[in-house]
Amino acid sequence: MVISSDEEEGYISEELVDKCISDDDKSEEELRKYPEFDENATFGEVQLQLHMLFPNLIMFKKAVTYYNISIGRVFKFVKNDNERVRAKCRSEGCKWEIFCFWSNVVKTFKVKKFVEPHTCARGFKNKQANKKWLATQLVDELRSYPTMSAHDTFEWFKRYRGIHVDDYKIYRAMRLAKTIVEGFEKLHYHKLWDYCEELRRRNSNSTFGLQGYYGGQLLSAVAQDDNQHFYVIAVAVVEQESRDTWSWFLTNLLGDIGQYSDNGWNFISNQQKGLKLALEELCPGAPHRNCVLHIWRNFYSKYKNMDLTK
Ligand SMILES: [Zn+2]
Repeated sequence: MVISSDEEEGYISEELVDKCISDDDKSEEELRKYPEFDENATFGEVQLQLHMLFPNLIMFKKAVTYYNISIGRVFKFVKNDNERVRAKCRSEGCKWEIFCFWSNVVKTFKVKKFVEPHTCARGFKNKQANKKWLATQLVDELRSYPTMSAHDTFEWFKRYRGIHVDDYKIYRAMRLAKTIVEGFEKLHYHKLWDYCEELRRRNSNSTFGLQGYYGGQLLSAVAQDDNQHFYVIAVAVVEQESRDTWSWFLTNLLGDIGQYSDNGWNFISNQQKGLKLALEELCPGAPHRNCVLHIWRNFYSKYKNMDLTK
């Protein structure tokens, strides 16, 4: 599998060969014969192969990282620029290596060299799973379950990533992941202000309002169109969720979209405090269902056992 003993010359000469044989017919023919990286491969399913095609190097680096963490090996990127990335095993004596480089023939990134398998021993502690990687893995989870404990996090990595993470690493990764999540939220909160400003600018008759301050509760209403797309129709920030604040929100909302008695609205909510009472008061008899996702989340946070939900 080794293409050239001289690595630098190796990819330069390959580039020249690529340039000489590149024409459109050839390129389509070539594309068909190479395996494409499966972007949807979940952790543990990531496969690497010689000649595998990648749409970009970020995806390649992610795949190499996932692959090595899942098999408990430690590697380093020895070359890493806009056109090429080379990764080698960190263990002395192990020749594992992978090299991905832009191909002019197929107009995408291609694995040009792959030396496997690792001849080194699987490490008990997964050093490749550093704070940044661990935190990145946690972000989606934390956004869904902000109350995740260190123990939950340890169990999550064991179960879904097959790795045992030390306590001190768990805490550091959780702290970083929380910072990332808060960053997202602040960013979205500011976007919300811009969005409201734009709505006010475009529609001066709108009674749509954003009141309150950062740190309050966000109330929102979304609607679904014929194409099954969801869109936000109203948001408000209130000091706290209660029957009064929901009544105020609903009164404004119904003033804009029309009353239930005239339009027959259906409501789906996540059992917020006070909303049910406010709905009964303002839209008596209106159909009101609970959001399945929220029922599932509430169930999860109560029982902490994903199997029970299946
Ligand atoms: Zn190795």
